[in-house]
Amino acid sequence: MKNLLFIPIFLVIGRLHASEAIGFYSKGSLLGAQSVFERGTPIQKLFVARKRLYTTDEMHNTLSIASEFIKNEFPDSEILQVGDLSERLGGEAIGHASHQNGLDADIVYLRRNKYVQSPDASNWDEDFISNSRPSKNFNTERNFLLFKFLVKNAAVPRIFVDASIKKLLCQFAKDNGEITHPETIATLRALRPQDLHRTHFHLRMNCPVNDHECVLQSAPQSGSGCDDLSILLEASAELHSC
Ligand SMILES: [Zn+2]
Repeated sequence: MKNLLFIPIFLVIGRLHASEAIGFYSKGSLLGAQSVFERGTPIQKLFVARKRLYTTDEMHNTLSIASEFIKNEFPDSEILQVGDLSERLGGEAIGHASHQNGLDADIVYLRRNKYVQSPDASNWDEDFISNSRPSKNFNTERNFLLFKFLVKNAAVPRIFVDASIKKLLCQFAKDNGEITHPETIATLRALRPQDLHRTHFHLRMNCPVNDHECVLQSAPQSGSGCDDLSILLEASAELHSC
């Protein structure tokens, strides 16, 4: 009898504490979210004063496993540095079109010099593009492995990056002879060239399965997208602005 009572109460409490993403990335809101500080998400949170500290449970889990992955794979790496997430109840986050429903996160590219920015700074401190190419400090191998990990292990259909970064990673995959591997194609497909991503990448998650009021975004076109980056750039401009 005791056990029978315990299970339904546990389920109700579990649901009350769950977050809910509502609406679309650029027209939505967020319920039941906790800040990364309340949850103890293992990241370096940047721009703390802006108070975009909130995510869905699913984004919290994704940031946590990404952080763990970095720690295990690259023990000498800097910690994952995360810029804006969403406001406590979601909705408009000035300076962004999206970040409204707890499913978007801005993250600093992994660096060769492993520098960690101060959480008090008011803006990104490094442009990773120089002369239309990723800079020397852009860690090609590590960023690509992190992107592969995210696409494989989390519900991440899109990662917005600067077009020159996608170009570099397409070339990197070709040079390594892995351009036809399904996992590589899936990762490159998720990398969406987008302006305003010279300083950070933007991770976007799918609607969580149980968040019935969350509005789905159609999946990116199939294939790596490496053959025609200019068309992709044009198409993705309609989908997002950061
Ligand atoms: Zn963003």
